[in-house]
Parts: sequence; structure tokens; C-alpha cells
Amino acid sequence: MVNAVDIKKVIAIGGSDPSGGAGIQADIKTLEELGVYAYTALAAVTVQNSKGVKSYDVLSAKFLRDQIEAILDDTKVHGVKTGMLGSSENVMEIAYLVSGQMIENSIIDPVIKANDGKMLVPEASITVLKKRLLPYCFMITPNINEAEWLTGINIRNVDDFVGAAKALKETGVEWVLVKGGHLEGGKAIDLLFDGKNEYYFETDKIPIKNVRGTGCMMASAICAFLTQGMQVYDAVGKAKTYVANKIKKAVLLGKGSLQAIHSFNEGELSEDRTD
Ligand code: PLP
Repeated sequence: MVNAVDIKKVIAIGGSDPSGGAGIQADIKTLEELGVYAYTALAAVTVQNSKGVKSYDVLSAKFLRDQIEAILDDTKVHGVKTGMLGSSENVMEIAYLVSGQMIENSIIDPVIKANDGKMLVPEASITVLKKRLLPYCFMITPNINEAEWLTGINIRNVDDFVGAAKALKETGVEWVLVKGGHLEGGKAIDLLFDGKNEYYFETDKIPIKNVRGTGCMMASAICAFLTQGMQVYDAVGKAKTYVANKIKKAVLLGKGSLQAIHSFNEGELSEDRTD
């Protein structure tokens, strides 16, 4: 039996994806599957399906703050995971929240573009994120494209990888996880960096490319595992395995990219990926 006081709680802050592949919906499904209660606050609402993002509206910083305050007024949360924030003002709201030490285990997935290339945040908010938010955060989890945007470094090999991780570490964030799944070559290499030690996670690439929401799932899983007391290296390793399994089992529900499935037990899904 689970005692309510033992339940770990995470607030996911980001954009809604009505097709459930990415964004807040992917966060909720991941957190709950991993045994963590998912609170949410919406920063933006997107119009999208498996074929891509059509449009979006960004909610006001005041409205975002009200949602977060409603939760924090009511309960203690053990972690925060952010995704699409949509505006500089919304980034600042999260900066107030994290710098005020109201929540620990802050994991920032710096969502900048959708898979189809559509910008999901104004360019100016990227500087605000680096200067005002990251100095107070526990971890940032960019993929290569996001790391390039954030640092201006072209990432072509592992040396560039280290350069980008070091540049991001200089913002003051405690941990940097650069995810190299999109690098050329047969291996997927991720680099976890704390300013001193470089930890590499090397796995064979899974030959399935078009699964949405992998970044959301990864950051949510890391946050969940940290709230459950896992060490950083172990939390990242376990989150990687979790996401890899989701990619392997993803199915085609719409007409575009594949969807990760959270609601069935392993083995219930056939190898046939189509509906
Ligand atoms: N959040 C929202 C609302 C999105 O629409 C997207 C991508 O389209 C993302 C986050 C990032 O998705 P991914 O996990 O694939 O990087």
C-alpha cells in the first residue's frame, strides 16, 4: 500500500500537445508511469498532430504564475520539469520560482523548435533562459540542435560536444546533459557534465527516427528518478533506457510521426507499428 506522504510530486510546466506525443501530455504520462504524481502548469497551447505543429498561443506570465501558485499553495512538490515556455516573461516566472528555492530538482528541457523546424519560442527568450534561469537550475537537457542554439557552437563531433557542455556549464547550471542522438554515426552518445567530470552514455542507435516527445519523456523521467532519491548518473542512465524502450515500442496512430505508448504493459503491443 502506498502512503500519501511518500508520494513524490513533480510539476511539469510547458506547452500542451493535443495529440499527446510531446509537451505536457508526454510529461504527465511519463511521470505517472514512473510512479510520480504529475502536477502541471500550462505556458502555451499548441495546435498540432502527428504531422506537425500548426500554430500556438502563449499564455501570460501572470496566468502561468497563478497556476503554479495554486499548486504550491496547496502542496509541496519535489521537482519541476520545464519544456516549451513560449516567452521571455514565462522564462522569468520560472526563474523566480527556482531562484526562490521553492522547488528542488529543476530540470530544464530547453524546447526551442518542433521536430518539423517550427520555432516554439521567441529568440530573445533563449538569452533570458541562459542568463536568468539556468544559474539557479539543477540540470539542462538539450539535444544537439538546442545545444547549438544555446551556445553558438557547431556540434560535429565529441570535442564540440564537450565545448558546448562547458559553455552551458558556465551559465551556472549544476549539470548539463547534451544528448547526441542526432549526431552522425552508429552510436548515440550523451554527455553528462558537472563542470569537473565528463560521463558518457554510449548506446547503439535505434533505427527508428520519427518518434515525438523523446526530449520531454527524457527530462520528465530524469526528474522523476531524482525525486525518488536516485543519484544523477543513475537517474540519467535509467531515463535513457526508459526512453529507448518507448522508441522501440512506438506505434503509428496518426499519419505522421510515431507515438510512444504508456498505457499498455510490455508485451501487449505487437511488433506491427500501424493501426
Ligand atoms: N513541447 C511541445 C508543446 C511541443 O510541441 C514540442 C515539440 O513539438 C516539444 C515540447 C518538444 O518535443 P521533443 O520532446 O520531441 O523535443
